[in-house]
Amino acid sequence: MKTSIATVSISGSLREKLEAIAAAGFDGIEIFEQDFIADDASPAELGRMIRDHGLEITLFQPFRDFEGLPQPYRAKAFDRAERKFDLMQELGTDLVLICSSVHPRALGGIDRAADDFRELGERAAKRGLRVGYEALAWGRHINDHRDAWEIVRRADHPNVGLILDSFHTLSRKIDPETIRRIPGDKIFFVQLADAPLIDMDLLYWSRHFRNMPGEGDLPVRQFMQAVAATGYRGPISLEIFNDQFRGGNARLLAGDGYRSLIALMDDVRRAEPEVAVDLPAMPARVTPKGVAFVEFASRGAEAVQMEALFTTLGFTKVAVHRNKAVSVWQQGEVRFILNQEETGYAASAWAARGTTVCDIGLTVSDAAAAIRRAQSLGARTFEQPLGPGELQIPAIRGLSGSVLHFLDHDSGLDGVWDVEFETIAEPGQGAGLTRIDHLAQTMTYEDMLSWSLFYTAIFDMQKTPMVDVIDPDGLVRSQAIAATDGQFRITLNGADSHRTLAGRMLSETFGAPLQHMAIACDDIFETMSRLQVLGFEALPISANYYDDLASRFDLPAEVLAQMKSAHILYDADEAGEFFQVYSRTFTGGMFLELVQRSPGYRGYGGPNAPFRIAAQKRQMRMATIPRS
Ligand code: MG
Ligand code: MG
Repeated sequence: MKTSIATVSISGSLREKLEAIAAAGFDGIEIFEQDFIADDASPAELGRMIRDHGLEITLFQPFRDFEGLPQPYRAKAFDRAERKFDLMQELGTDLVLICSSVHPRALGGIDRAADDFRELGERAAKRGLRVGYEALAWGRHINDHRDAWEIVRRADHPNVGLILDSFHTLSRKIDPETIRRIPGDKIFFVQLADAPLIDMDLLYWSRHFRNMPGEGDLPVRQFMQAVAATGYRGPISLEIFNDQFRGGNARLLAGDGYRSLIALMDDVRRAEPEVAVDLPAMPARVTPKGVAFVEFASRGAEAVQMEALFTTLGFTKVAVHRNKAVSVWQQGEVRFILNQEETGYAASAWAARGTTVCDIGLTVSDAAAAIRRAQSLGARTFEQPLGPGELQIPAIRGLSGSVLHFLDHDSGLDGVWDVEFETIAEPGQGAGLTRIDHLAQTMTYEDMLSWSLFYTAIFDMQKTPMVDVIDPDGLVRSQAIAATDGQFRITLNGADSHRTLAGRMLSETFGAPLQHMAIACDDIFETMSRLQVLGFEALPISANYYDDLASRFDLPAEVLAQMKSAHILYDADEAGEFFQVYSRTFTGGMFLELVQRSPGYRGYGGPNAPFRIAAQKRQMRMATIPRS
């Protein structure tokens, strides 16, 4: 499979784009005329530069308003085409994209257009070039790939073929199954883009809101299944017009693009096993079974504070590492690791951010398969030198350098606690905390698509629609991603403004830190009474919140009174209830959430987030008022 991406899809100068595209692993690029015009190198030099990056120029585009013109416009269009043919030959590419005309003087008629293409094919053939025709969703006469195909069919010239673009087909809700009838060798090129479903003008939607396959809502997999079934073996190219991407990080976006394309084609292969997809074998998506550990990098006084926090939450220090300044705190299935090493990865994470979550361990059924899938999708692996007797536990880097380890049972990796650590105590009764319910990462709004693609491409996880969370100082967007079996959940919180609580954390760190995590319990009232004895301080919630709760839900008065005194928040959906308590913010801007989730409830207490944020900001203001 030949992978390609249009230069418009990412940010930067042409040279920066080439670097990023080559580094991500693409085979080729579609060169956009604008990029080419903006550069000061000659076409021949540019062509060389592109090939020096190991990239092929898969397509030159766009050539507009060609077909159906009356004279003298028709003759001029052919002259223009000859000039572009000159340019293509200098650049070193043989295929040009001609998009369906929007010219006010263009005349309709399938045969008229077919005649124009036959003649253009003849001229292209003399130079060894090929012409591809694409139906723009807003073309004046041709806006459907079926009509474009009919023109190509009637032009009946070996140098004239069809170009398919998933956006143009799917945005107009044209059934992609109709592609199966087109002979694969008459399809010259395939462009892919996804998009969120928004009801707006097609041209505006296309120019500003396209995104990578899997990031939007269009049925791109069905589209590619139909394309693959035709026997098409040419390049599969991303053509993404997106305002946010134009200003984004070129390397991150090129990596996202490559990941989305490989994951999509792997899905196509699995959905349609009888169709040959030329892609190296890779394991299926990995199902995370839960969080095996959360590792904090900390040091000195902050580490002492962390230990005190763990203690007030009912955790027991159960083990210490045989070679390192690393301890394990456990309660139920939850393991917190406190890493105070002065060298290695945790030490550099601490140096960069202060106390922070530097590593997350996921339990999977096959750690080696998880690594192979992640690597196939362009994820970087992580290794550091092993001490005596230490296990080689496979790990990858997240998008901002964070580390994700994979533990499994079959290869004995879940035995790491006995192998590398010395047990010093058994977990006590604790406060009834059982397992990690969800992790919450904070990031800039721009990074949210990248992270959700990262999780959904590697893991068997589904995203839920994005919701807005109102912070008194701005908006935070939140998206939950959950394993299909519900055993692992993560929420991504994207901040627009540095004044929001999430934004403030970002301005003091970098990347996409874990800002909070929720720990599950079976009976939050029992847990809270035990925590009170241990000295845990919940985030105080306003009395007004409970008055409002009484009006929205049918809760018994004594339950409501108990909730109010323990600062327990509440939410419910058709299927179940959700109780939550927040900790006060601790070192590094992090906080914890304790939750009781009835089995059917699918949310995260979203309606309570504004009250939680307001309470946290109140707490932060109190902390900065000098005491007299
Ligand atoms: Mg296109
Ligand atoms: Mg939460």
